[in-house]
Amino acid sequence: MSPRMPTAVGCVDGKRVTVLRGSGCSCVVIRHGLAMKSPDGKKKISINLANGTTLHAPATDTMLEYLLYTGKVDVVEMKSPLYDVILGNIPGAKCPGIAQQHETMAVETRSKKGHNMKSLLIPTAVDTGITVDTIREKQKDDVPLEDCRKRAETGEIKHTGIHNKSWYGYERGILFRYFQSPVANHGDVSRQMVVSKELRMTVTRLAHESILSGHLAAKKTAERVLQDFYWPKLWDYISHFCISCDPCQRSAPKRHINKVPLSAVPLIV
Ligand SMILES: [Zn+2]
Repeated sequence: MSPRMPTAVGCVDGKRVTVLRGSGCSCVVIRHGLAMKSPDGKKKISINLANGTTLHAPATDTMLEYLLYTGKVDVVEMKSPLYDVILGNIPGAKCPGIAQQHETMAVETRSKKGHNMKSLLIPTAVDTGITVDTIREKQKDDVPLEDCRKRAETGEIKHTGIHNKSWYGYERGILFRYFQSPVANHGDVSRQMVVSKELRMTVTRLAHESILSGHLAAKKTAERVLQDFYWPKLWDYISHFCISCDPCQRSAPKRHINKVPLSAVPLIV
């Protein structure tokens, strides 16, 4: 770890700790066992992970004394964070390297006056809120997955093409598809969770329009989904989703449109 990381000594519930001011973090993470109270499960903090998913972790309140923040704060416990405390961008946390916050004044020039600035279109994180039990229940009730469930029970292995094969199975009550092809996943078996009808939109949105997805075309979006998920007629579903996506349609390059050939116009006298 770089010695230039913005760390400093702080205090958590009376204990001396090393605090990192992490400007890429959206909450406060603390080493397990440092907080006096343990989470009671009533309070939860949403953490946006780098892969675009959101985690709802139990939180507890604790007293933090540190150069860039002092006061009571809701924290999430972790077994082995890089530092005792990682202070993210919570309200009141000062910027790294600035112990004293200075008030600044914004100036509006005459030319800017009257110009209504348009707000930027910023993608929002997809909060799924889906539990393992929800997935399990929806897989059981979904009619289009009937064939997949049957194949999982019989253990039937389907061969497609010369070298591709697929089969189904259950893990902790959740239905998975296993697929093996010499041209996919370096020839290893791909393990794909079977997605019920109601959850397909959520999975596709995560793969296509979440912060790290970037509105890729249907082929790349489908390939991304297939890394971990599967459902019957997946390619059709994702193609339809991508051509219906509003930001994609707005930013798609305009194709050349042929002009209508000139022809004699009837003259009305
Ligand atoms: Zn799009």
